[in-house]
This record gives sequence, C-alpha cells and structure tokens, in this order.
Amino acid sequence: MVICPCGSLQSYRQCCQPLHESSQVAISAEQLMRSRYAAFVMGEIDYIVQTTVPAQQGLLDVQAITDWSQQNQWLGLSIIASQPDVKPRHAHVEFVARFKDQQGEQQHRELSSFVHSGTRWYFLDPTVQPMPSLKSDCLCGSGQKFKRCCAPFLGLL
Ligand SMILES: [Zn+2]
Ligand SMILES: [Zn+2]
Repeated sequence: MVICPCGSLQSYRQCCQPLHESSQVAISAEQLMRSRYAAFVMGEIDYIVQTTVPAQQGLLDVQAITDWSQQNQWLGLSIIASQPDVKPRHAHVEFVARFKDQQGEQQHRELSSFVHSGTRWYFLDPTVQPMPSLKSDCLCGSGQKFKRCCAPFLGLL
C-alpha cells in the first residue's frame, strides 16, 4: 500500500488519488491544500494547474512548477490552522511543508488562500502576475470588483 503523501495516514488510492484523477473534487479548502501538496510529491502537475483559480491557470509557469516539484525531496505536510470561512466562499489554510534541497532540510510555511467558485474550491496564487487592476472584476468570478473581493483577502490592500 502506498501511504498518501498528504499526511492523512490513509492509502493514496483512498485519499488523494481520486482527486488527482478527477473522479472526486475536494470538499474543503483544507482537503484541496492537502491534495495539492500530494500532487507536488506525485508529480501530478496538471492537478496543480486545474486547482488554481481558472483566471490564473493560463498565467502559471508550468515548467517552473514542474522543476520545483522535482528538485526537492518532499518530507511531509503539517496543517497549522484552517479557517474555512474567513468570509463567504473564502478560506485560509496555514501549513508547513518540509522538504530537502541541495542546502539540506527546509521548511516552507505559508498562509494560502482558497476560493469556492461554481462547484469547487480553487487556490488563489498570490505570486502570479499580472494581477487584475483593483477596479476590474475579481479573479474568483464573484462578479465583485477585485478591490472589494479577493485583493484584501490576499493581503494586497
Ligand atoms: Zn491524501
Ligand atoms: Zn474574489
């Protein structure tokens, strides 16, 4: 049995694999976070793209994501805090991912932002450029202005 890399202690087949194969969708932001970490470990880069908010998908540097996933040896994920309702449809998940690179063991701590749009959760990538202007429609498809929706949520205001 392959243990799922996401830290659930379940088998990969019963945990994140159905998400990576698109036969299930994550039911919470935390589950999406875990499955995205597992996707890095398993080299499921398409899943990383598909679970980023659709407005950003075409702007992702897929080669850089692939390189980052392969250059590191992934050691584990710990969820520090999960805030499922920062505001309606918006969730934060704080986590630490441990990995080993050429310099040794590293810890990457991040407060990630997720938005529920349509029927599923998506990751909002704060590093993707360009961001929409503050007065234009939000990335997340809410129909609100970016300024009033995800910009403050992402810490951009
Ligand atoms: Zn898993
Ligand atoms: Zn938004």
